[in-house]
Formats: sequence, C-alpha cells, structure tokens
Amino acid sequence: MPNLGSDRSASVIGSGPAGLMAADVLSHAGVKVKLYDHMPSPGRKLLRAGIGGLNLTHGEDTELFLRRYTPQSALLLQAIERFNALSVRNFVEKLGIPTYIGSSGRIFPTSMKASPLLRAWLKRLYHQKVELELKTRWQGFSNNGELHLISAEDRELLIRTDVTVLALGGASWPKLGSDAAWVTHLPGVRIAPLRPSNVGILIDWPTRLLNHAGQPIKDCRAWKTAGDPIVSGDMILTSYGLEGGVIYALGPLERGDTFQLDLRPQLSEDILLARLSSQRSGLNISNRWRRAGLSPLEMDWLRETLAKSEWSRTDLVAHTIKNMTVNVSGTRPLSEAISTAGGICLSNLDENFMLNTYPGVFCAGEMLDVDAPTGGYLLTAALATGYAAGQGALNWLKKHP
Ligand SMILES: Cc1cc2nc3c(=O)[nH]c(=O)nc-3n(C[C@H](O)[C@H](O)[C@H](O)COP(=O)(O)OP(=O)(O)OC[C@H]3O[C@@H](n4cnc5c(N)ncnc54)[C@H](O)[C@@H]3O)c2cc1C
Repeated sequence: MPNLGSDRSASVIGSGPAGLMAADVLSHAGVKVKLYDHMPSPGRKLLRAGIGGLNLTHGEDTELFLRRYTPQSALLLQAIERFNALSVRNFVEKLGIPTYIGSSGRIFPTSMKASPLLRAWLKRLYHQKVELELKTRWQGFSNNGELHLISAEDRELLIRTDVTVLALGGASWPKLGSDAAWVTHLPGVRIAPLRPSNVGILIDWPTRLLNHAGQPIKDCRAWKTAGDPIVSGDMILTSYGLEGGVIYALGPLERGDTFQLDLRPQLSEDILLARLSSQRSGLNISNRWRRAGLSPLEMDWLRETLAKSEWSRTDLVAHTIKNMTVNVSGTRPLSEAISTAGGICLSNLDENFMLNTYPGVFCAGEMLDVDAPTGGYLLTAALATGYAAGQGALNWLKKHP
C-alpha cells in the first residue's frame, strides 16, 4: 500500500468496529488519524457483544452469506465480498486472537470474549500513531465544512481535516454510546427511519403460558408463510413474548404479523401421530401427551390453542405441534435491540462510501441502512464497510493531493 505521508490527516468519529477498521486502513497507509468517541472508553458495544460469546462471522458459502443482507445492494455486497468472512478471520488471527468455527458454522474467538481483541487492536492502532480522543462529541459540520466537536472539557472545537469517516453506530443499546443523535447533524442526507432489528417480540400470553417464562425452546423451526425460508434454532419464552436466534432470523416482525412454529422438527407429523395414538385411551389427556413425549410447555400451549373438545383428536394435536400459529403484538424497544434497521440510505453514497453531498466525508457501519440477522453478519458488515470507507478515503486523498 502506498504511504501517503503523515501530512495528510483523517478524522474518524466512532470507535466501534467500523471506525476502528477505517482508522486502521488509513493509519496503515501513513495518514495521521485522530479517532474520536464521546464515551470515556472505546468500543463499548463490541465489548458488550463479547459477553454472550463474540460471533465474529460465519463460515457458510459466500453466496448464502451475501443473501443474509438487506438491501441486496451492489455497493454493500461488493464491500462484503472484498472484506469477507475469511478476511475477518484472518484479520483477527493476525491480531494474535485464535478463532474457531462452531458446529453451526459460526466463527468465534477461542476465548469467546471481545476484550483481548479490542486490546490487541488498540495496541496496533497506537503503533500506527492513531490518536484516540475520548469524551469528545461530534455535533455536525460548521458552515465552513469543519468538524464541530465538544471536547471532554466542554469546549467547542472546529477541526479541519483532509477526510472524515463517520462510524457512529445505530440506536440500539444507547447507553453503550450509539445514541443516533447524528440523524440531526446531516442535513440533506436521506435517512431511513431507525427501527429495532434482532429484537424480542411481544405476545399476549395467556396465564397458563406465562408460567413457563424463562424456559428455552430448543431446536425449533419457524417460517412466516408457506414457501418462505424456514429458519431454525433456539428461543426463550419470556414474560413478554419470545426472544432468541429463531425470532431474529425471521426478520422484521411487527404488530399484527403472524408466523408458524414447528416445535418438533426432529419428528415427522406421522411419527408424532403414531406416538400419540399408541397411548391407552383410559389415560387422561395429560398422561397421554406426557407419555407421547410432549413437554409441560407444549402441553399448555396445546391447551390454549385447541378447544377442549379437540384435545383427544391425535391428528389435530400432532398437526398443531408442528404448525403452531404465533400472533405478534409488537416488538421490544429499539434500545433493547441487538441491532438497528434503517439509517443512511445507501443511495447517498458513491462507490467509495463517500456521501454524495459531503465531499471528503465517508460513512460506515451500523449507521448505514443495512440489516442482517445475528450469526456474525452484523460485525462482518461493520468491518467490511469500515474497510471500504477507509479505502475510499485513501482513494480520495490520492486524487486530491
Ligand atoms: C448485546 C449485543 C450483542 C451483539 N453480539 C454480536 C455478535 O455476537 N456478533 C455480531 O456480528 N454482532 C453483534 N452485535 C452487533 C455489533 O455489536 C454491532 O453490529 C457493531 O458494534 C456495530 O459497529 P459500529 O462500529 O457500526 O457501531 P458501534 O459499535 O455502535 O460504534 C459506534 C461508536 O460511535 C460512538 N458515537 C456515537 N455517536 C457519537 C458522537 N456524536 N460523537 C462521538 N462518538 C459517537 C459511540 O460511542 C460508539 O463507540 C451485538 C450487539 C449487541 C447490542
């Protein structure tokens, strides 16, 4: 990579994975980079993501991997092909963090945590002379195109740099730093309304099912309507509804939506029917269902779904267990979502991830109108667009000596 010399300057705002990647690309090429964040420490959401096991990316084939993203925009998909799952894995390994691929194809650091990765990355950026300015809030641009910042000491700063990368995140978990205040700082830029994604859903559970709150439902399958992709995995029944991988993988759901659940995908309807039918008719319903292998949660769900007169209809019971209709009454708020849908519409960006109406200003990460399920796709998109914006900023510097 050509060295552009340290007389060229870049400001990167946001120290999440997208901003860290843009700062890395630019500083590696010799650009003097200042990395700003309004929080007292960098990469807070990345650290939080590591608490449940940092799912870095996914090992499935590229075609399937790319299909996970919405929108299917050429700009986005090219960026992800350029910095793909293998690049993510190699990048992390080069930082000295060993990774492994789980049985589901998901890729994690061996330690599962994000802190060793963040530490190693910050050390690398320090050696590349990136200056980290914390507790410094970006407020937009001055009329002269300078960055308008509020320093840790509450002083107003107007900074002029050759290029700027904005990587300010979405609006989920705002206490970690991404509060989406930036939506008011970019007049003229089209921003799709921010919405919760990968979030728990609300269901008006009858009392009988509320008694099972906190219970996991493992290895189930769900689909929106016949012919739609079937998603599989685990979820948890909560006091407000359902939460977990299967629900997130269904994609955006809202009040009034319904979807179907197969609570026993390992058993065909015929086998389930045979098991139910082989129970002695002298037994009461609970014992018949229990002996056929149904769990207390499944039995209560059946009691709430079927009329009492239908409970002895083994064909109907077997069919319902494999085709439970779920009515969605809403979603948990954006502040609790794993990620944010909506954001800067990709049509605002040129092929270098530069804002068409703000020459020299590039955008990356969750602030873009990009959505994907959990499974490592979110971090990959943040890293890939951070890489693309960093490269785009380098291209701009080369063209504007
Ligand atoms: C609980 C949880 C678990 C997750 N687990 C995973 C996972 O396992 N795998 C996965 O792929 N993804 C996961 N994610 C999603 C992943 O963390 C995000 O996709 C990723 O962090 C987005 O990176 P980003 O750099 O775009 O934004 P962020 O990480 O949100 O970083 C944006 C930064 O900008 C700063 N900032 C915002 N506004 C300003 C301002 N005005 N001035 C200065 N600084 C500002 C913020 O403080 C923040 O540090 C998880 C998310 C959550 C909440």
